[in-house]
Amino acid sequence: MTKKYDVIIVGGGPAGIFAALELALDDLRILLLEGGRDIDKRQCPARDTGQPCPPCSPCDLVCGLGGAGAFSDGKLTLTSRVGGRLPGYLGEDQTEALIKYVDEVYLKFGAPDKLYGTGKKVDKLRQQADLAGLKLVPMPIRHLGTEHCRLVLKAMWDNLSPHIESRLRTAVSSIIVERGKVKGVKTEAGESFECDYLILAPGREGADWLAKEAERLKLTMHSNPVDVGVRVEVPAAVMAPLTDVLYESKLEFLSKSFDDRVRTFCMCPGGEVIMESTGGCDPVITVNGHSYAERKTENTNFALLVSTAFTKPFNQPIAYGRYLARLANILSSGVLLQRLGDLMEGRRSTPERIERGLTKPTLQNATPGDLSFALPYRYITDLVEMLQAMDKLVPGVASHHTLLYGIEVKFYSSRPQLSPSLETEVGNMFAVGDGAGVSRGLIQASVSGVVAAREIVRRR
Ligand SMILES: Cc1cc2nc3c(=O)[nH]c(=O)nc-3n(C[C@H](O)[C@H](O)[C@H](O)COP(=O)(O)OP(=O)(O)OC[C@H]3O[C@@H](n4cnc5c(N)ncnc54)[C@H](O)[C@@H]3O)c2cc1C
Repeated sequence: MTKKYDVIIVGGGPAGIFAALELALDDLRILLLEGGRDIDKRQCPARDTGQPCPPCSPCDLVCGLGGAGAFSDGKLTLTSRVGGRLPGYLGEDQTEALIKYVDEVYLKFGAPDKLYGTGKKVDKLRQQADLAGLKLVPMPIRHLGTEHCRLVLKAMWDNLSPHIESRLRTAVSSIIVERGKVKGVKTEAGESFECDYLILAPGREGADWLAKEAERLKLTMHSNPVDVGVRVEVPAAVMAPLTDVLYESKLEFLSKSFDDRVRTFCMCPGGEVIMESTGGCDPVITVNGHSYAERKTENTNFALLVSTAFTKPFNQPIAYGRYLARLANILSSGVLLQRLGDLMEGRRSTPERIERGLTKPTLQNATPGDLSFALPYRYITDLVEMLQAMDKLVPGVASHHTLLYGIEVKFYSSRPQLSPSLETEVGNMFAVGDGAGVSRGLIQASVSGVVAAREIVRRR
């Protein structure tokens, strides 16, 4: 006999965990299904041993209890202006109020008090950015660090687990719908579970799966812009004027040649560049970054991403991003690495040139090569123009020795049509977090879980 629950949550990342925390306040039968492993059992061989990314399926770096959040840098960006599309659903005031609420929950489970990105020094930096042709988006940031982020999420899970049922290493394969209402889910192992309400929180790893299920269920889907770029690595001293005050600086730029929006993302002072694999059984390897609160390197890394909206009939942003990542994988069996100076002079980087360079790569197993074989001219031009503009604000960032790892792609692409309470066109089925395209970071992912959970409690 199939078991019946009040609510099933698919995905144990921050969105799923915050939904469960909220629902657990009520007396509900909750089942959380997570495709990956327990938070303590997650290990990344490439990160731990420096060997090339195998890649694993599922990737322990982004899958398992805690989701991609468990190994993330743990920068909590406490503003509705970045990190997702929630203000479009909830309005700015409600989003800000819920950000405050989830920040308090993070604090309760061990997030540090210290806040970056506030005070008079921020105004001065904003003026300097204006002069360099850049827009600085100031925001309060709390930094957990990779080691603490994991502990905070684990503390939430330990608090939660006595109140809910969970199944790990249990990937959901399909959603069961009858007469326009959700009825339950089926797992890859063939088990079925019934529910009155379903919260889908599959993260970027499950975005492709969610898009396919949405297509099967004939749901309306919207395309988000494709974000493609590189991870930049420079000596930490170069970025210190920004990172000491802001920790993460969100800079935006409009490229001269193509009028494309280019932006910095996920800045990791004293951090490490890492590989990650996404896409389940057909993975591609991309690049990312993180930093520990206590274990620091001599470098700072950040993503530089170009957002482009394409014209119709294009409707496959995820496939497009994966295709570009695949090109870099073919050329490097993983991640390509090139010095900015080599890129500008139209030659590949070699192991010898990297070795001679002044900036030492923190990702040891990237392959020196030529990014222009993987990234279209338009992206390369946009990225170089932004680095040159940034060089006026933080001299040295566009140095010959600046390292570029490629490629970085953000797969928060297709999103189902959602109501203001994040309900899909299927009754009682909600879609939240990065996988639903509503968030791009820990805070808005967490808020979105709370929104769906509160709506379920309200209806009951
Ligand atoms: C290296 C790295 C650094 C980052 N740094 C930051 C940062 O500093 N600040 C910030 O705000 N954000 C950061 N992020 C992004 C942040 O981690 C995500 O925005 C956040 O985790 C999204 O939460 P989520 O719950 O939507 O999805 P996820 O955390 O991705 O969790 C989704 C979970 O669902 C599971 N799943 C997927 N499909 C299925 C299925 N069919 N059945 C069952 N389970 C399934 C997955 O295994 C996964 O565990 C970083 C991400 C990475 C990878």
